[in-house]
Amino acid sequence: MEGGRGEYRVAIIGGGILGTSIAYFLAGQARDPSSIVMIEQEQDIAFHTSSRNTGKVHAPFLYDPVKKKLFARAAALGFEMWERYAHEKGLPFKRDGVLEVATDDRGIDRLHKYMAWGEANGLSKDELKLLDKGQVSAIEPNVRCESAILCTRDGSVDYRLFTRALLQDIRSFGCTLLLGHRATRIIAADGNSANNNIISLRAADGTKKEIKAQFIINAAGGNAVDIAHAMGVAREYTDLHFRGEYWQAPEQYRDLTRLSIYSVPRHPEYPFLDPHWIVRADGRREVGPNAVPVFGPYAYGYGRNLADMIPKVLESSRTGARRVFLDRQFISLASTELKSSLSKTAMINRVREFLPAIRPSAFTVRGTAGIRSSVIDSHGRFVPDTMVLQQKEEGSLHVINYNSPGATGALPMAARVAAMVMGTGIIPLSDGRPGTLWDPCETAEKMAT
Ligand SMILES: Cc1cc2nc3c(=O)[nH]c(=O)nc-3n(C[C@H](O)[C@H](O)[C@H](O)COP(=O)(O)OP(=O)(O)OC[C@H]3O[C@@H](n4cnc5c(N)ncnc54)[C@H](O)[C@@H]3O)c2cc1C
Repeated sequence: MEGGRGEYRVAIIGGGILGTSIAYFLAGQARDPSSIVMIEQEQDIAFHTSSRNTGKVHAPFLYDPVKKKLFARAAALGFEMWERYAHEKGLPFKRDGVLEVATDDRGIDRLHKYMAWGEANGLSKDELKLLDKGQVSAIEPNVRCESAILCTRDGSVDYRLFTRALLQDIRSFGCTLLLGHRATRIIAADGNSANNNIISLRAADGTKKEIKAQFIINAAGGNAVDIAHAMGVAREYTDLHFRGEYWQAPEQYRDLTRLSIYSVPRHPEYPFLDPHWIVRADGRREVGPNAVPVFGPYAYGYGRNLADMIPKVLESSRTGARRVFLDRQFISLASTELKSSLSKTAMINRVREFLPAIRPSAFTVRGTAGIRSSVIDSHGRFVPDTMVLQQKEEGSLHVINYNSPGATGALPMAARVAAMVMGTGIIPLSDGRPGTLWDPCETAEKMAT
């Protein structure tokens, strides 16, 4: 089965950083790269979360090595993979470090936990240091805190540029690309290897067509849970969406700190709630993101949010999300986040707790918001790690809950997914030298250790 005739061995749904990285590994190993198709609903790749994020290559000290094992392994491996990739492609990669600050005793306890996690996840003593107040003042005089972790193995990049470079690679390998095509319906294969999945596509100009694929990889980001459900997978899970908003700092604040400053989360079970002081790869400074509950993965504005509201509320009433909405702590946190969306002062003041020199009135330009989609189980609990679910009949694989540090971990996660698919024998492999910088099976083994 070759590409170009509407029949493919593997179809990847989603041209974010994960789907493009998966295409990189599969097309780079396949004897016939055109038999791999990547489908993206937008005209460009990395249109959604993959270009709407903080741009950090995160060090793995923030991730519980047991509860967030996949994310921790992916972040540990992702750093050196992106550093090498950026070097090969001449892309900016700033190894600029991060300071994780605690402003009270509870926060200091948390820092000790992070030190232990960092060590367990492979960070060396040189890369991760616990500092007291005086040591912090010596390196960042404008920062106020009781203690902090200095991590030097943390970087700033532009993930849109990385994804564009991967796109160039997969184009040069000969992978089939269907940009501007939305997968609207999928009829799953019935487990008989002679039968294919059938994917209905709608192009941006309204034209419709069908393609067939022996195997489907669902890397659709905020849409991944809906696609999994449509294929009868992950029915016990649902998702909730949170818009992370930013404010750009004015030029006068450029020299306030050298490092990005993150604060210990006030609620460790929701680590994505606290806005940071961010140093971007191009030198800009920003405050963010918060996490405002919204009704859909593309609800950047009021109109779309309103349109997504009724279907999401109806769906939530039937799933574990119902319990989240009834949870008092969640309601209180959600209202704080909403306040920080409506009031710039409320948001900037959260960062002033550790960077008192900034003034809300100096911030006049919003940054680019991105939306995270968190998976909720049937008991209403947030799922901590990403999940790679294989359909029973082995005709598809679904990556859900792929949140931060998803961009950091995209290459190793993609290698793992590619190795799983290659393990099914669906793709005849090239006899020659692979086109990728890494062998996906070797990387997948490292992910497993
Ligand atoms: C505010 C914020 C800040 C973050 N900061 C960081 C950070 O600093 N460092 C880090 O490592 N991670 C960060 N992350 C997480 C990271 O950005 C994501 O984990 C990562 O980008 C997810 O990539 P993806 O390819 O899975 O999803 P996406 O980028 O969302 O890509 C999925 C693609 O699938 C397409 N698609 C969906 N449905 C269909 C369909 N039916 N047909 C065709 N195409 C479809 C979409 O158009 C989209 O392009 C952040 C996330 C957020 C929200």
